[in-house]
Amino acid sequence: MNDAVKMDTPSATQSDVDFDAIIIGAGVSGLYQLYRARELGLRTRVFEAGPNVGGTWYWNRYPGARFDSESWSYGYSFSQELLDEWDWEEHFAGQPETERYLNYVADKFDLRRDIQFNAVVAAAHYQDDNHSWKITLDDGSHCTARFLITAVGVLSAAVMPRISGTDSFKGQSCHTHNWPTEPVSFEGKRVAVIGTGATGIQAITEIAKTAGHLTVFQRTAQWSAPLHNSKVTPEEMADIRKNYTDIFARCQETVGCFIHAADPRAALEVSEEEREAFWEQRYSEPGFGIWMGNFKDVLVDAEANQLMSDFLARKIRERVTDPAVAEMLIPKNHGFGTRRVPLESGYFEVFNQPNVKLVDVNENPIKCVTPDGIQTSDADYGFDIIIYATGFDAITGAFDRIDIRGVGGTSLKDKWADQPVTFLGIMVDGFPNFMMVMGPHAGLGNFPRAVEYTADWVAELIGHANTRNVTRIDATADAANAWTDHVVELNDGLLFTEVDSWMTGINRNVDGKDVRRIMRYSGGHPAFRRRCEAVSQGGYQELSMD
Ligand code: NAP
Repeated sequence: MNDAVKMDTPSATQSDVDFDAIIIGAGVSGLYQLYRARELGLRTRVFEAGPNVGGTWYWNRYPGARFDSESWSYGYSFSQELLDEWDWEEHFAGQPETERYLNYVADKFDLRRDIQFNAVVAAAHYQDDNHSWKITLDDGSHCTARFLITAVGVLSAAVMPRISGTDSFKGQSCHTHNWPTEPVSFEGKRVAVIGTGATGIQAITEIAKTAGHLTVFQRTAQWSAPLHNSKVTPEEMADIRKNYTDIFARCQETVGCFIHAADPRAALEVSEEEREAFWEQRYSEPGFGIWMGNFKDVLVDAEANQLMSDFLARKIRERVTDPAVAEMLIPKNHGFGTRRVPLESGYFEVFNQPNVKLVDVNENPIKCVTPDGIQTSDADYGFDIIIYATGFDAITGAFDRIDIRGVGGTSLKDKWADQPVTFLGIMVDGFPNFMMVMGPHAGLGNFPRAVEYTADWVAELIGHANTRNVTRIDATADAANAWTDHVVELNDGLLFTEVDSWMTGINRNVDGKDVRRIMRYSGGHPAFRRRCEAVSQGGYQELSMD
């Protein structure tokens, strides 16, 4: 359980601004940051683009959307009452359950009264004359605030593929992120899914159950491993509730805040029998243990990684009956775990079904979408439904879509064009009073754990400023550059940095996102927290305060 930030702040009311804090986003991060801002007595407004709370878990309502983290390790930990009241139904909750949970949180803590829905932030400009931010919505309305806190998520800027003709299609189509709220029936329909990331893999598995015919367009095969989801029994829930303190403590100790910690042994140190037995065990267990709880060298040593990849390739060959299809489903251009591992629930068996066809778009590129379907270099496919599971302009994309300008009108998008520069992944030099919850250079992993810590840190900083009548906080350029250098260095030797993926900032459907960049902190959450605590306990010497 993390410590509550409780500070005796004097009245935070500052008459020269409309709000003390504006938060962008009412997802997992924004809801909690609002809760913390309220505790500080800040006049706060949240702008949320959607019509309801939930962020990721509002938008991504595609069939099969669910957690890959254990539900009970993903929920908020800050409120004992909430932990006592909420029963998880599944070990890996589906989107509807998670959306219900976040609505429950919003209602329980009466958060909605400070949230403006359907409010898309178009611009945020820092005004140095009164140390404030002017925030403009896409309808032209605007307001001012002392602090601007982004809670925009790392995977919220959905991206359509660069394929011509998408608007000409006469059937139903959408990106998985923009899934309609009304039910979509696949019964008897000819369905296409483009994209086989974590989203595509979940959606394909579900859609294949009812579609008349499903065609999967794959560009990169994935090292996917079984999720092993199950219902949470009342007895299990009682046990989980008794153990919440230990569960959250365990999450705090691991690199990615998951309950799974790397095995202290190296794959190359143990015998082949021991290695295989361990991997078989991990393959049969629920969740990310196979990725986060693997031998310690699997994600850093090319030989260990190859052995692990070979193990998974054997599993794919065992599960897919047509050897040619199995080969198509085995990744050839990256090793296991060097991209975010999608967890699956019968994905590979889908390709044994007579109503499912796999198309490799490297062999047969998509030429265009037509009014009736999709044309590849070798065939014309007729479809009733086309689903774009083509991912996101990750991490910086949501920032790029807002015209954010700091001191002297400097654009954040321009500042980050080559490489994000941040201090602790929370602040950006030259952008005073601007804080990010899960911005670039934050550690990825089990989000709510990292979100709670970061939102607490931000709240503590604002409390510190308010008690001292400080109205302008900025990271020094030296501090931001030193942190950024440190983040970059941490990536040396990690196999994932040599692979194209959203985690290395690649999205060839977006201009300027075709060169790998260091987008995340790889030092692990315990080290991250130590660093943040050193800054706060040291009196924020890395920040300038006026
Ligand atoms: P993604 O991993 O970026 O996958 C996008 C897919 O679309 C890739 O297979 C990509 O191929 C393909 N694609 C893009 N443009 C294409 C084109 N023009 N032609 C053919 N294929 C194209 O995005 P995602 O699947 O939405 O997942 C993103 C992240 O969201 C995940 O890694 C995960 O962190 C998170 N997520 C979490 C959960 C969960 O917790 N359960 C579920 C879903 C997603 P290439 O690989 O070749 O680029």
